[in-house]
Amino acid sequence: MSRSDVDVVVVGAGFAGLYLLHELREHGFTSRVLETGDDVGGTWYWNRYPGARCDISTTDYQFTWDPELHDEWTWSEKHATQPEILRYAQHVARKHDLYSGIDFETRVTGAVWNEDSKKWTVTTSKGEHITCRHYVMATGCLSMPKEPDIPGTDRYQGPVHVTGRWPHEGVDFTGQRVAVIGTGSSGIQSIPLIAEQAAELVVFQRTPNFSVPALNGPRPEDRAARLKQDRATYEAEARLSTSGVPVVPSTTPALAVAPDTAREMMEAAWQRGELLALGATFMDVGISRTANEVVSEFVRSKIRSIVKDPATAELLSPRGYPFGTKRPCMDTNYYETFNLPHVRLVDLNSSPIRSITETGIDFGDESKEFDSIVYATGFDAMTGAIVAVDIQGRDGITLKEKWENGPLTYLGLTSVGFPNLFMITGPGSPSVLSNMMVSIEQHVDWIRDTLIAMRDGGFETIEPTPLAEEGWRAHCEDCASITLFQDTNSWYMGANVPGKPRVLFPYIGGVGRYRRICDEVMARGHLGFELSGAGGTRRNDGVVREIQPDVESVLEMMATLGLPPIEAMSPVEARAFSEASSAVRPPGPAVGEMVDGTLPGAAGPLEYRLYRPASSGPHPVVVYFHGGGWVFGSHVSDDPLCRDLCAQADVAIVSVNYRHAPEDRFPAAALDGYAALRWVAANAASLGLDPTRIAVAGWSAGGNVAAVAAQMARDNGGPELCGQLLLTPVTDGSRQHQSHTDNAEGYILTKSLMEWFWNHYADPADRSNPLASPLLATDLSGLPPAMVVTAQYDPLRDEGDAYAEAMRRAGVLVEHLRAKGHTHTSITMVDMLPSGVPPRRAMAAALRRFFG
Ligand code: FAD
Ligand code: NAP
Repeated sequence: MSRSDVDVVVVGAGFAGLYLLHELREHGFTSRVLETGDDVGGTWYWNRYPGARCDISTTDYQFTWDPELHDEWTWSEKHATQPEILRYAQHVARKHDLYSGIDFETRVTGAVWNEDSKKWTVTTSKGEHITCRHYVMATGCLSMPKEPDIPGTDRYQGPVHVTGRWPHEGVDFTGQRVAVIGTGSSGIQSIPLIAEQAAELVVFQRTPNFSVPALNGPRPEDRAARLKQDRATYEAEARLSTSGVPVVPSTTPALAVAPDTAREMMEAAWQRGELLALGATFMDVGISRTANEVVSEFVRSKIRSIVKDPATAELLSPRGYPFGTKRPCMDTNYYETFNLPHVRLVDLNSSPIRSITETGIDFGDESKEFDSIVYATGFDAMTGAIVAVDIQGRDGITLKEKWENGPLTYLGLTSVGFPNLFMITGPGSPSVLSNMMVSIEQHVDWIRDTLIAMRDGGFETIEPTPLAEEGWRAHCEDCASITLFQDTNSWYMGANVPGKPRVLFPYIGGVGRYRRICDEVMARGHLGFELSGAGGTRRNDGVVREIQPDVESVLEMMATLGLPPIEAMSPVEARAFSEASSAVRPPGPAVGEMVDGTLPGAAGPLEYRLYRPASSGPHPVVVYFHGGGWVFGSHVSDDPLCRDLCAQADVAIVSVNYRHAPEDRFPAAALDGYAALRWVAANAASLGLDPTRIAVAGWSAGGNVAAVAAQMARDNGGPELCGQLLLTPVTDGSRQHQSHTDNAEGYILTKSLMEWFWNHYADPADRSNPLASPLLATDLSGLPPAMVVTAQYDPLRDEGDAYAEAMRRAGVLVEHLRAKGHTHTSITMVDMLPSGVPPRRAMAAALRRFFG
């Protein structure tokens, strides 16, 4: 094999580089692995500071690709030390003869894509130029210590130690005055051990971190037993889990249990000594601030119980950011260390470092001398090591330039403009939000299979399409926006490095979801990629995920329940089913008052519920019509949504129970809707409401009733309406629209269920009547201002879109929100799906605008 021209160059000989080298060899690809260090191990080669350990249990933080390893390697404890993990990496490398494939003490400095040869030319610190078809950055997410950003760092004349570049021979701090700057995982692991040696230790803390005790010891029995009993199932569960460790997700909201019970549950999690246990106690820790505060306060109470000096305990207590949005730490005696007389905590917020000096540190109004300074100040994470190499893609653009405003990747694996470049655990992949072993293996497998597919298909190049990359960026943002991560100054958000763009760098949709997406991309012929070779070009453009992640989770959960289709039920059964489902939903926000009553409908009394805001009235009023396909539902069946609109828009809602089919078929619902509207307008003042400001609103079939009521009000002398809010409305009984085909199945409201609704409600001949199909009205002018919300994955999407467009053409003031990634029902799921908040906020804003 020519050493200067290979199939694949791999940068980095950590766990990622090692496994990739093995797979490349196994499948007949020539390769070179280039590594700055003089041995394998990556993270575990560089981070030799005292106390450095893994904080994922050794039952999980290990390779799975070589089953023999499980028998020939025995981990000595639950959380392996750095030396033990390094020995493991060395063992794997020796066993599989990987050393022979690695050039050590060789830093990659540049890589240039050559469009003519369709190859990369990789340049090393040794002056070598290597050409390769494929170029893989296995450079690690936490391998580039961040540049010192503290004034005076160059002045200090004593020994300086950086946790991520610790001397191989170790450091003896005995009898020394030591400063440690930084209280992330590295600081928290090293501080207790440095304190054991030092005569005096001063810890400089900018932000306190949440830390849970490692409670190190033997491997967790339950996990070890499961592994022993059925390794394959355990590993499969890990691969499809949220974080790469099989943890049964909680289904309990934090506020759904009594405080004592919550505390017991958290105590049990605390006692497990596992990184992911505490955050997994409740289902909503990652998405709800109030839920998160329950866990945050629990940790603070633990700190108070350990640290004797209340002022120090308070300084160590994280406040102002949610638990888990900075990487939680695991410690052994960290908080206890601050009870030692020679250990002092300095809060950099009240006593900032003015400068490092020749002999120590000037901070606050003090100057202090130190014999050693330890920087535990972290890494230029995720992108640092990648953009440190001058990578020039097509047209000479560098990756660093392309990523100036944040990394853009497809799947965190590839990037437009950089053909045949792959990243392992790159930005936009779960990477640091996972057990990295699981993520590394998944990426290596995907890259290997891609290279094999290219070779088999005669392709020389692969590159994602701009559409796929933009779709992935949007999906990552959708996932991030429903979590609490984006408001915290963390390295996940690039906030630790001055000038770094603020985006959530890792993908937070979960390891399992991510794996399924990558598998789907592959199964669909590399969806979102263009592949080229002698035989031609195959461009398989598309976006792999547009559905909102929380909506997808609900659909997945419902799929597992195996519920019978509603259209297989009788109307009576369907009503009972609907009521039972409604009974288990969160109730929605509090409102000032809820009053039930009856009003005269077109053919008899109708029940209604009045939701009044807490503010003083008289309030404008929205006459609201519930969903349920004209067959089920009631004046209280959309309770959470009505409360939400009432509270957010500060308007009164009168939700009306119109007559239902098949007992009362078309036009009963329409006539009731209009009758109710007239009654509310006539009686608003006596209900304490503003009779001059009235609007209609409705969801689904209720949107149909609302739209029809607006048309009837226009045509029958009032009442005059300020607006109409139509959420995923039924507007056209012809059902000829494309969305009935595109979204026929899988999104709760199905094509066949819609047919069932129509069959119960209206004869085919009646469906073209505008009172059934408001879209088919000959004249839509003169209608009140409208907000129409349609959902991407709704069979009714196109008829809602068409109604918005037709009203606009007729001169009606229309605001049209196409809710990306939503289904017919998802926006109504108040306090269940965070992604529904923005569209509901927009609906509330529209109501406010209607009423001026
Ligand atoms: P790395 O191990 O970082 O290896 C990358 C290699 O690339 C390095 O050896 C580096 O020298 C080399 N390299 C980089 N740039 C160049 C270049 N230009 N030229 C040549 N070589 C280059 N993850 C967990 O899942 N659980 C844990 O408990 C955990 N604990 C951690 C503790 C610490 C202290 C740190 C820093 C990280 C921890 N991680 C943990 C994350 C850890 O980085 C991964 O688990 C894993 O080891 C990463 O392996 P890797 O091969 O992808 O990258
Ligand atoms: P880190 O989490 O980024 O912590 C760096 C610390 O230094 C923070 O407390 C930070 O404060 C502080 N800091 C940074 N710049 C500073 C400045 N200019 N002045 C004062 N303080 C400054 O880095 P890390 O501890 O090395 O950990 C990085 C990641 O590596 C971890 O999150 C984890 O993923 C991994 N890791 C894991 C383990 C483990 O237990 N397995 C151990 C070590 C590392 P701010 O918070 O205010 O920025």
